[in-house]
Amino acid sequence: MKPARFDYAAPGSLAEAVTLLAQSGEDEAKILAGGQSLMPLLNMRLARPQLLVDVSGLAELDYIREQGAGLAIGAMTTKRALEQSELVKRRQPLLHAATVLIGHPQIRNRGTIGGSMAQADPAAEYPAVALAMDAELVVQGPDGERCIKAEDFFVTYLTTALEPAEILSEVRVPELPAGTGWSFREVARRHGDFAVAGAAVTLRLEAGRCADTRIVVFGVGDRALRVDEAEQLVDGEAPTSGLFERAGTKLSEVIEEPLSDLHASADYRRDLARVLTQRGLAEAASRAS
Ligand SMILES: Cc1cc2nc3c(=O)[nH]c(=O)nc-3n(C[C@H](O)[C@H](O)[C@H](O)COP(=O)(O)OP(=O)(O)OC[C@H]3O[C@@H](n4cnc5c(N)ncnc54)[C@H](O)[C@@H]3O)c2cc1C
Repeated sequence: MKPARFDYAAPGSLAEAVTLLAQSGEDEAKILAGGQSLMPLLNMRLARPQLLVDVSGLAELDYIREQGAGLAIGAMTTKRALEQSELVKRRQPLLHAATVLIGHPQIRNRGTIGGSMAQADPAAEYPAVALAMDAELVVQGPDGERCIKAEDFFVTYLTTALEPAEILSEVRVPELPAGTGWSFREVARRHGDFAVAGAAVTLRLEAGRCADTRIVVFGVGDRALRVDEAEQLVDGEAPTSGLFERAGTKLSEVIEEPLSDLHASADYRRDLARVLTQRGLAEAASRAS
């Protein structure tokens, strides 16, 4: 199928792009980044914007920089660039591990970190990384810049805190505190498919006990979910397989009814989340020092 008719603009700067969005009525304009999610939606006429604002060529949004102890990543940075970045491999191993699980090389060549965050697919890897790493999302709009914590950015299925005239410009990912172990695991039906379910885990060991545990699951709700009840069960305890099993069970009990579709039933997703959490905790603990 072909998309419905639209106008196309390729602004030369971020400021120009914001102006174009602000001049358009609500839902009339759409930002085009890598196009890997938007183009299929246009082709199927599930999206019918009157104007496409193509920001994929904006070099000012394409960078990976050290910022304090973390990284600042421009929204137009492709997944391929993140996959190949030595800085990301060294400083953000969890982000790197998640990146190589996204789609196929062709998708990662075009798809951007900003596009994935803005798309907010509940089975996508990057929103889960953002929550697990306590990332901040920098947004530019007609009223200037604002910084949104990941926990406030992802609202529900395919919905974020972005206003219609706002553009996500940067993702700030803090460095994990020294000695923190991490894990990123998922199950997909075929290599390159979206995950059926996945789990991102970080934790520290303090005098032989777990501390600062963060557990995020994705593919099992309307967005990536941080599960406090399971984290609290782990913190302050010695890292044993029994503890991690109890935490996985707790998580599977407290998450609300997961999606049920032709790929997996809600019960299967719930059980996957349990097992991935249990294994993720064990892996993170083995990496903690
Ligand atoms: C076959 C296939 C397999 C895939 N597998 C996976 C997978 O396993 N995991 C995964 O996470 N993704 C997967 N994807 C999706 C892919 O990662 C997309 O790249 C991503 O979802 C969107 O990024 P994009 O740069 O292509 O954005 P686009 O498709 O251009 O845009 C997506 C949406 O975000 C908005 N948007 C884009 N950039 C911004 C911005 N800077 N500010 C505000 N709004 C913006 C657009 O208006 C649009 O609504 C897959 C896609 C395909 C086609």
